[in-house]
Amino acid sequence: MKALVTAPFTEACLNELREAGVEVEYRSWRDTGKLHLGDSMLEVISQGDYDIVIVEGDEIKEEVIQGTDLKLIACVRGGPNNISIEAATKKGIPVVSAPGRNTTAVAELTISLILSTARRLTRADRLLVRDEFMVDDFGDFGRLHESTIGFELSGKTVGIIGLGQIGLEVAKRLCAFDVRLLVYDPYVAEDKLKSVGATESGLDDLLQESDVVTIHVPATEETRGLLSAEKLGLMKETSILINTSRASVTDEDALFEALKSKRIAGAGLDVFTMEPVDCDNIFLELDNVTVTPHIGGNTRETIERQSEMLTKDIKAFLNGEKPLHILNPEVLKG
Ligand code: NAD
Repeated sequence: MKALVTAPFTEACLNELREAGVEVEYRSWRDTGKLHLGDSMLEVISQGDYDIVIVEGDEIKEEVIQGTDLKLIACVRGGPNNISIEAATKKGIPVVSAPGRNTTAVAELTISLILSTARRLTRADRLLVRDEFMVDDFGDFGRLHESTIGFELSGKTVGIIGLGQIGLEVAKRLCAFDVRLLVYDPYVAEDKLKSVGATESGLDDLLQESDVVTIHVPATEETRGLLSAEKLGLMKETSILINTSRASVTDEDALFEALKSKRIAGAGLDVFTMEPVDCDNIFLELDNVTVTPHIGGNTRETIERQSEMLTKDIKAFLNGEKPLHILNPEVLKG
């Protein structure tokens, strides 16, 4: 078996695959700077005569599946919308993924953004870095303090929109901050809410009552524009919004206006309509926003976890066993 690995992978797991008899070529997109979209993987896979691919964002859609002789497709994403699972299933090719690989990382980034936005760390840091604020006397020092005044989480209300894998981990961590938790998630089970002492809420009530609103829903037709201009208008002037889920959940223009006009106090944003984010991102104009370039899952531990999960499943496949995280188990029948 010959495998092409374009997802970030640990050396230890690459070696584990080699020891299992796989001839491995490692070309992480982070090193090559290449993202294969459309049918561009067709040529790469055919030329290399690969049996297995391990990808992150590279597209393995119907044309690629039809035009190659892949035996297994592995994707580090939990919900890999860059793979045509339907086409793979039709051709009897197993697709494995690494669900939950970055749950802890995104939950921890969310907590970082909540704290950093509440305490205005970005504004404080930018004031000093831009060399705009010289402190010559106590008048300057007073103004510095006045323009960076924040709020404590203790005793406040945090509204979580979507109590799935990440929302739940965020909620668990917030318990340590002595906050009241409201949750809007029409699909959440009662015992999940109970496990973190959260109260179920309607979306409007959550937006009206929360000091911090944090979004953790998937990008679906139902969640598109969930936080419209009208809904953002329900938030308190003192409240902050955190989005580490997907940009499509908010009306981005309305959010920009709400932040610019100080209709809401601040935001911590990891996801944007236009990505990858660079220095042209419009939110960078605003001192009440912390912008991170979609780094929610970007930790060493995420790479370790995805490498270990996929290596285990590929080895299971090679041994004729059922991989744990197979997305189309029906192909294994018989
Ligand atoms: P999940 O599927 O485990 O949880 C989603 C939750 O949202 C579920 O509890 C579901 O019931 C709820 N939900 C679905 N539709 C809803 C609706 N209309 N209103 C309210 N709640 C609704 O997903 P997850 O793994 O926790 O991921 C959450 C989000 O984080 C996703 O958008 C995912 O793409 C994003 N994400 C971002 C990064 C990053 O790097 N920033 C990394 C991983 C995941």
